[in-house]
Amino acid sequence: MQQIRDFVDDNTEVVPDGIIWTPDPYSEFSLSSAHEAMRYKAASCLSSKCIWGGGIPSKVSLFMWRLLRAFLPFPDVIKRFNVCLPSVCALCHQASAELEHCLYQCNFSKHVWRHFQGIFGATIGASSLRTECHAWWLLAPPGSVVDWYAKLVSCLILWHLWCSYNQGVYGDGSHSVSQTLSRIKQDLFLVASTRTIRRLGPGNDFLLTAGFLRRFHTPPIMVTIWVKWMTPPSGRLKLNTDATYGAAGVAGGACLRDSRG
Ligand SMILES: [Zn+2]
Repeated sequence: MQQIRDFVDDNTEVVPDGIIWTPDPYSEFSLSSAHEAMRYKAASCLSSKCIWGGGIPSKVSLFMWRLLRAFLPFPDVIKRFNVCLPSVCALCHQASAELEHCLYQCNFSKHVWRHFQGIFGATIGASSLRTECHAWWLLAPPGSVVDWYAKLVSCLILWHLWCSYNQGVYGDGSHSVSQTLSRIKQDLFLVASTRTIRRLGPGNDFLLTAGFLRRFHTPPIMVTIWVKWMTPPSGRLKLNTDATYGAAGVAGGACLRDSRG
């Protein structure tokens, strides 16, 4: 009880005409704002910064969240609940269908990972799926174009390996390596086409060569034209108007002045 009283004291402010609830930007109390202020918040880790937002499709982010917590229904994961399933890798048919194998150790998966390592010029000698992900997330300077692509591509590789695995288990057989590669590149292109990507140096040109985007965004050149208006005679007003239009929209302006300008 004392804890709740302290919480209320810490989050309220008494003013002459009432009480301000400080967790809410409009000072109005709500259960959601109280819950948000009270709930335990874990420190954000690298993975949570790299798998959510940044243009990564929500279904892929959710998939990554399940993957990093070993919640995907691979036979070795389900085995923890004393349920044993047939366990043959649907991608190579030569090993057990374990999460680490299917998405990383399998020859099929390794081919895909190496293909994109080659495009990005990355030398990653990771020993596990998690360290491979960390290597991609730390591949380029934070905030750079390559950094954004590296985070996205690592998530898309895993997503499409997962899709291919499921196609092998529940469909007519897994996709081929080349089909998986082209699906990843297609998704990269589609996601990139929704964003404004600027060329920040020659180190970005490989993105064009690899077909990850159509073109870099070129900001429009702004031209300033100075116009001198003649002031009206004394005792009169003068209304000057002008307008412009273009692909980005239309805009107009007006200026009412007297003889003093
Ligand atoms: Zn395999």
